[in-house]
Amino acid sequence: MKCIINGRVVLPDCVADNLAVIFSDKIEKIIPANEISLSDYEVIDAKGNYVAPGLIDIHIHGYMGEDASDADAEGLRKMAEGLVANGVTSWCPTTMTIAKEDILKAYDCIRAVKNSGEYYGAKILGVNSEGPFINPSKKGAQAEEHILRPDADFILDNKDIVKLFTVAPEVDGAKECVEKVRANSDITVSMGHTDATYEEANAGISWGVTHATHLFNAMTALMHRNPGVVGAALSDDNVSCELIADTFHVNKGLFSLVSKIKGDKLCIITDCLRSGGMPDGDYTLGGQPITKKGIECRLADGTIAGSVLTLNKGVYNLLANTDLSVSQAVNCASLNPAKAIKSDREIGSIEVGKKADIIIADGEFEIISTIIDGEIRYNR
Ligand SMILES: [Zn+2]
Repeated sequence: MKCIINGRVVLPDCVADNLAVIFSDKIEKIIPANEISLSDYEVIDAKGNYVAPGLIDIHIHGYMGEDASDADAEGLRKMAEGLVANGVTSWCPTTMTIAKEDILKAYDCIRAVKNSGEYYGAKILGVNSEGPFINPSKKGAQAEEHILRPDADFILDNKDIVKLFTVAPEVDGAKECVEKVRANSDITVSMGHTDATYEEANAGISWGVTHATHLFNAMTALMHRNPGVVGAALSDDNVSCELIADTFHVNKGLFSLVSKIKGDKLCIITDCLRSGGMPDGDYTLGGQPITKKGIECRLADGTIAGSVLTLNKGVYNLLANTDLSVSQAVNCASLNPAKAIKSDREIGSIEVGKKADIIIADGEFEIISTIIDGEIRYNR
C-alpha cells in the first residue's frame, strides 16, 4: 500500500493540509497525517505541493504527432503515454468528421486498444465522436463532404465504445437520433457545430441533449434578441458545457462569467490536435492541412482549428483568470467531466473507494507526478 504525505490535498470542496492519502489501486483511506505509521507504507512525499485528482480530458483529438482519427493503435498508445506528463489519467479519444468507414475504423482501433489493456498511460474511457452529424454552416475545421444526417444506429451499433457524441439539433433527423440514443443507451448527447436558434437548442435539450461541445466555438452566439445555442446552454442547469481554456478560442475575460453561471457543470477540455506537444510547423487535421504557431492552429484559409492546450495548463488558466478556488478549478478538469460522461462513481475526485488516479502538481499546476490505478506513471 502507498501513502502520500505533506501535500495540499485537493478535495471536491476544499484544499486540506495535514492529510495522508492511502491507496492501493483504489483510494483506501484519507486520514489525519499524525494518525499513520509511515513504516507500514510506501511513502510518497508531496513536499507541500498539490495532491489532486487525475485530470480527465473528454475532448482531445491528438497529441505528439498522433491523431485518434488515424485508426493507428501505436499512435493511441503513444498519446496515452504522452498525456500523463500533463496530469491526464483518463481521456476520450475524439474522432473528427471524416469518411464514415474511417470513423468506424477509428472506433474499432480505439475499442481494440482499450480492451487489450496493453498500453501504459492515461486510461481510455471511450470515444468522443465529434460529428459527423453537424451543420455544414458551422463546420469549423470539420470536413463538409463527410457530414451525414443524424443516425442513431450508427452510434448505438458502437455503444460499447462511444461515450459521447455531437449533434446539431436543428438539422433534419436530429430529434429521432437524440431520442433513440437516449432511450437505448447511457451515451451523452452534446450539441455542437450548430446553427440552432435558442428555441431549437432548447428543443434539443428537451429530447435529451445534456452537454455542449466547446461552448462559444462553432455555435450560434449569445445576442440579446437571439440568445442562440450559447444562451440555451448557459441557461439550462442540466447542460454541462465544454470550454477550451487556452485563452485563444475563448477570451479569458469570459472564464469568470461562464464559471459563475455553470458552476459544477463546467468542463474544460483541450480539443488538442496532433500538433500538441510538438514544435511550430505544418500538420494535418482530418486530412486537411493546418499550421501551428504558438498556441494557435489554423487551416490554410485562416479558420481556427483545435488547440495545442494541455489540460493542466487549462486548470492554471482558470485559476489565473477567475476567482475560482483551487478545488473548483480542478473539478472543471476532473469531477465535472467525469459527471458529464457518467463516470464519476469510479473517477474524478480524491474520495475513498474511487480509483487511485492522483497527480502531484506545483503552484503553477505543472505536473510533478502522475499516478494511475495506484501506479506511478510519470515523475518530472
Ligand atoms: Zn474537437
